[in-house]
Amino acid sequence: MHRRTTLQLAAALGASLAMNPTLHATGPATPLSLNALPPLRPSPRMPVLFLGHGSPMNAIEDNHWRRSWQALGQQFGSGPGARYPMPQLILCVSAHWLTRGWQVTGMERPATIHDFGGFPQALFDVNYPAPGWPAVAEGLSQVLSQPSVEVDEHQWGLDHGAWAVLQPMFPAATVPVVQLSMDYSRPPAEHLALGQQLRGLREQGVLIVGSGNIVHNLRAMVRTAPDDQGTDWALEFDAITARHIRQGDTTALANFLNLGALTRAAHPTHDHYLPLLYAAGAVHDGEPVRFVNEGFQMATISMRSAVWG
Ligand code: ZN
Repeated sequence: MHRRTTLQLAAALGASLAMNPTLHATGPATPLSLNALPPLRPSPRMPVLFLGHGSPMNAIEDNHWRRSWQALGQQFGSGPGARYPMPQLILCVSAHWLTRGWQVTGMERPATIHDFGGFPQALFDVNYPAPGWPAVAEGLSQVLSQPSVEVDEHQWGLDHGAWAVLQPMFPAATVPVVQLSMDYSRPPAEHLALGQQLRGLREQGVLIVGSGNIVHNLRAMVRTAPDDQGTDWALEFDAITARHIRQGDTTALANFLNLGALTRAAHPTHDHYLPLLYAAGAVHDGEPVRFVNEGFQMATISMRSAVWG
């Protein structure tokens, strides 16, 4: 976890600093920008996803949530159902990586993290070997200053909030993945503002994926509940949030704590809500949105997912 010098960054980005005695620099290099961040290349605008990940078992069970992720993945690339190019990079904000200050994974080969307990061995056996992209992580760290984002070269990797949804979507694991952490000590508006800064990456082949749940209360789960039923407060919070998403009302989304007791019921902790703010922040005004995976797991986990663009 450190910030490299600009010189090291330039080298990492492939910029030539070699001295040629017959040439002279004419001015400073073009500053890095989130709208032109090498080595990413310009691309048609990528969609933005917020995916409800729910139970870790969704990563390995053949259920309708997982099949929906598989179908979503087939919309990328050159196959018969493709709507978008294959991403150059996936930037994932998972509910499961909370830090002091913000960090971005900067490993060549991020480890598959099994950050849960009490599940079958088959879930611990999952390996998602997508590469990282250290040069992009370094670039993000250089460009983002409010807030600053540090590169994590050793600590994290890909947690199950990321790989549980990305493995079904992109089973070949060939698209590089970088995770961005969340500083849980900071107010929701700052998470939204960081998401807004990431918007320009969408024209550089970056698929931004927020992974959490619009309602997430593990204490009140009803294990026998069918997928089309939720508690009254889960239904209400889910419906309010869906309305704000449809209306593109990011201010209302960021003000979710104002719902008081309803929010405390839907989110005893709000780590699973915050990734929504990054995704919604990266959306342009008026962009169309559609929902997939509407419904609940165990009545208190909304699986509602949003696809913008
Ligand atoms: Zn989770």
